[in-house]
Amino acid sequence: MITHLFLNAIITRLFHNLCYCPTFINLMNIRTIMQKYTHLIFALLVFLLLNYILHFPLYLALFAFVGAMFPDLDLKFGKLHRKLLHNVWVLLIILFVLFRTGLIDNIFAIVFSIGFVSHLVLDGLTVSGIYPFWPIEKFRIRGSAKTGKASEYLIFVIILFMVLLISGILKVYLF
Ligand SMILES: [Zn+2]
Repeated sequence: MITHLFLNAIITRLFHNLCYCPTFINLMNIRTIMQKYTHLIFALLVFLLLNYILHFPLYLALFAFVGAMFPDLDLKFGKLHRKLLHNVWVLLIILFVLFRTGLIDNIFAIVFSIGFVSHLVLDGLTVSGIYPFWPIEKFRIRGSAKTGKASEYLIFVIILFMVLLISGILKVYLF
């Protein structure tokens, strides 16, 4: 019992120190920045792939970026992060409003959705996953990628490689 309490105190102390250590805070920032870039580059990849069939003007990729950033606005809501704005209902409401009001051209709204869905797919690959039909928590999509760990950097590099390949910036000669 005493050992347990003692261990508890040490862990709490360590955690406290860790949280207030500048390097740790820095690492957390790097992680958030990294997450953002992974989402942006993945949205770009999906956009470029769809571009083969749909032939969007390239500047529309900006709307895919906005869509890819949108779900993480719920980061400010603590426990509701990955729930509040990480579900299909939010997207449907946004699309409904945009289509009904004609606020922006429909094509912009469609490309926004591409970015939004790409964000959900990527978050769905992580251990914590997402609830696509939240507040219905019966369905959860989750994978084995750990955010901020080596797997994320690997995913980032693979996606970047594919983007460079598709966009024609990188040419790979197999023979
Ligand atoms: Zn997210």
